[in-house]
Amino acid sequence: MTRTHPHLTQTVLDACHTLAEFTTTPGSITRLFLTPPMHDVHAYLTDWAQRLGMTSHVDAAGNLRCRWEGSAPEAPTLYLGSHLDTVPNAGAYDGILGVVLGFALVEALGGQRLPFALEVLGFSEEEGVRYGASFFGSLALLGTAGPMLDLRDAGGQTVREALTAFGLDAQALPSAEITGEALGYFEIHIEQGPVLEAAGQSVGIVEAIAGQNRFDLTFTGRASHAGTTPMLLRRDALAAAARFVVAAEDLARSTPGLVATVGMMDVKPGAGNVIPGEARCSLDLRHARDEVRLAALPELLASAEGFASERGVTLTVTPKMEVQATPMHPQFRALLHQAAADAGLPHPDLVSGAGHDAMVLAARMPAAMLFVRSPGGLSHHPDEAVLAEDVTDALAVGSRFLQLLAAEGGRHGL
Ligand SMILES: [Zn+2]
Repeated sequence: MTRTHPHLTQTVLDACHTLAEFTTTPGSITRLFLTPPMHDVHAYLTDWAQRLGMTSHVDAAGNLRCRWEGSAPEAPTLYLGSHLDTVPNAGAYDGILGVVLGFALVEALGGQRLPFALEVLGFSEEEGVRYGASFFGSLALLGTAGPMLDLRDAGGQTVREALTAFGLDAQALPSAEITGEALGYFEIHIEQGPVLEAAGQSVGIVEAIAGQNRFDLTFTGRASHAGTTPMLLRRDALAAAARFVVAAEDLARSTPGLVATVGMMDVKPGAGNVIPGEARCSLDLRHARDEVRLAALPELLASAEGFASERGVTLTVTPKMEVQATPMHPQFRALLHQAAADAGLPHPDLVSGAGHDAMVLAARMPAAMLFVRSPGGLSHHPDEAVLAEDVTDALAVGSRFLQLLAAEGGRHGL
């Protein structure tokens, strides 16, 4: 298949670079929820929308919403987009690349009307930086962001107050909810990991957003003299914890797709000549399929219990967090695979280890994601990058996806 819109790649990259200048900290990119630079982002993208003949508004949650109407007034809506907020000292592509590509996909239509409307979404908040809670923008589209209105930021300002300061009305928040017929949601996002780069591939199709468990484990033994306590009479908490760390790595390495991480370890009393009496550690366990994660979990915890009891150590396990996996919509995924094949591209399945707006919207409508290679696997970092040719590939797959969906009359997934 020919790459029909090569000039659009440069348009996309130029837009990302210009939008990167809208920051609260000149010289780096920091654009939190409802902060002044978000007005500049909205103005830039609204201008683009108007040139394309789209209608646009900022909804009561601060989301930018721009519509390209379908061929019939009663046509359902396909939502395209990602988030406009960033982490502090961010890169130029996390989130915003997906929004910019949404406009580029409308531009690629060259005026064509589809049997469904397209609504490009620029979510106001996904990263959870300002209020310590994520997805205000996408939750507002489901009508479930209300409980976040009274959260306070570090300066004591509530979301409600921040909306007012931004020129919005918190009372109108329910009006942001999607009420019409939704065909689905399609999000293009940088991978933020090294898998596509390691495979030498430009784009991948997200199979699922991983489910996750987090635990704290406390191994309690007995601190005693490192010189006078024979090995068989010790209750070494760290030795038990260390076996557990290795067991977690072994199980994840031997279970396809499973990732297990012990990222934190605290040892007491913490002296070179004292046997550790207590070792506290974290466990983060993720997999695309809940049944795999939920089978691994008791196995890991039983191994921890075994390593502890072998040493006369007691184990306390404290659950901290559990999120179920979110499978992407099978028919949308199939269309994306078809679109990539038609574009002459490899189309691997990928798992998203990180959360995304697609995870929220999947509760309401068919959702799908396309990942774009992250050079160096880098994200949430100023050196975050994309390759121009990968943007071209993402545009080709996205354009073809829209045409395949149109060929089915926009009925897919309903
Ligand atoms: Zn993101």
